[in-house]
Amino acid sequence: MSLTSDPRPAEPVAPVQPGGIRCDRCGAPLADDQEWCFACGAARTVIHPPPDWRIPVAVIAAVVVLVLAGFAIALIELAGVG
Ligand SMILES: [Zn+2]
Repeated sequence: MSLTSDPRPAEPVAPVQPGGIRCDRCGAPLADDQEWCFACGAARTVIHPPPDWRIPVAVIAAVVVLVLAGFAIALIELAGVG
């Protein structure tokens, strides 16, 4: 049995579907990440996906934990001295 190469037809790259997003002012189709209308120059309200908030939250939580730990150690030291 010989495996013949299967030349798959290259799937056509679908262009940005017009009609999905249109300029509010002139109705020209806009790309998904296009912030300005190339036809009339109107700015589009781009809804950026929210950034990943878990990383800064984790950093802040770690800092808070370290500060609290240091504070607790300082209290214990003070209590020991006092
Ligand atoms: Zn426009």
